[in-house]
Amino acid sequence: MDQPETLDLAQQFGSDNYAGICPEAWAAMTQANQGHAPAYGDDPWTSAAADAFRSLFECDCEVFFTFNGTAANSLALASLCQSFHSVICSDIAHIETDECGAPEFFSNGAKLIAVPSQDGRLTPDGVRVAATRRDDLHYPKPKAVSITQATEVGTVYSPAQVAAIGATCRELGLHLHMDGARFANACATLGCTPAEVTWKAGVDVLCFGGTKNGMAIGEAVVFFNRALAQDFEYRCKQAGQLASKMRFLAAPWVGVLRNGAWLRHARHANRCAQQLANALQGVTGIRQLFPVQANGVFIDFPPAGLNALRARGWRFYTFIGEGGARFMCAWDTQPERTAQLAADIRAVMSTAVPADVQPPD
Ligand SMILES: *Cc1c(COP(=O)(O)O)cnc(C)c1O
Repeated sequence: MDQPETLDLAQQFGSDNYAGICPEAWAAMTQANQGHAPAYGDDPWTSAAADAFRSLFECDCEVFFTFNGTAANSLALASLCQSFHSVICSDIAHIETDECGAPEFFSNGAKLIAVPSQDGRLTPDGVRVAATRRDDLHYPKPKAVSITQATEVGTVYSPAQVAAIGATCRELGLHLHMDGARFANACATLGCTPAEVTWKAGVDVLCFGGTKNGMAIGEAVVFFNRALAQDFEYRCKQAGQLASKMRFLAAPWVGVLRNGAWLRHARHANRCAQQLANALQGVTGIRQLFPVQANGVFIDFPPAGLNALRARGWRFYTFIGEGGARFMCAWDTQPERTAQLAADIRAVMSTAVPADVQPPD
C-alpha cells in the first residue's frame, strides 16, 4: 500500500497548517538535496537564508532556525528574561494558551502575565498597567512584552500600534517580542515593509513563521537587537532545536524569500478569508466575531449549526467560548472550496437545523 486507504484530499479550513508544502519551498529542498554539505548550519544554504532575512528586513539582524513556533517563541523569550522575570502578553496569546508552559519551562520559571486584549491586540495602556502594578520584590519583575502579528483572532497591529507599544516598552525598560507565526499574512494586509512593523517600531526579536506560510517545518528567530542573541545557539542546541542537517530548514526560506513567494502566498490566503467573510454577509443566525484582517474568519454559530456543518464533513476548531468557529485559509486554498464552505454554511443556517444532529467521529 503506497498511501493510507482513508486519504481524503478535500481541503479543510481547520488550520492553515493542514496545507502542504508550497512549490518554492519544495524546489529549494530539492536543490539543497544535492551532494554533501557541512552540518549544523555551516553550509551555504543556512548563510544564504540568513542573508535573505537581512536583506528583507534591511538590517544586520541575527537569524536562527528552529523546528517549530513553540520552540522559537520559548527560546526567544528565555533569552530576554531571567527566571525571576515576567512576560506581559494577551490572555489569548499562543504562548499563554497553546504552548503547554514551554515559555516558562525554557526560561526556568519566568512567568507570563496575561492581560485582556481587544480584538486580540495588547494596548500600550494594558502593558503599562500590568508592568507598573507592583514594583516590590515579591512580584515577578516585568522584563518583556510579547505581541502576536497577525493575532490569534486574525487581526493585525498597524506599524503605529506596534510603535506605540514599542515606545511604552522602551520607557518601562521592557524588551519587545513578536510572535510572527502569521507574520507574512500581517505584512500582506499592511502593505508596509517588514522593517516598518518590526525593528523600526521597537521589536527586539521576531519569531517568523514558515510552516503556516507553506513550509514543511521551520520558524526563523530574527534578533534585531543583536546583544539579546548572545549564546542563543547554545539554547537551541540544549533544547533539541539545532538541526544537524540545517540546510533543509534553511533552504525553504531561500525558496520563499528570494522571489517574494512568502508574500504572494500570504496574500492569497488573506484573499480567500476575505472571500469567505464576504460570502457569509447576510446569513442569518451567525455573527462574525472579529474583523477579517489576515487569513482567518471567526464565526459565532448556534451549536446546532456547528453540528450540521460537521455532519456535512467540515472540520474546524471551536475554541472561543461556546459556539465560535475558526476557519483558516492557507497558501493553497481553493476559491471553489471556500465557496463550497460558504454555501454549506448558508444551507445549514437556512434550513431549520435539527438540534439532535451529532458530529461524526
Ligand atoms: C501556529 C502558531 C505558533 C507555532 O506553533 P507550533 O505548533 O509550535 O509550530 C505560534 N504562535 C501562533 C500564534 C500560532 O498560531
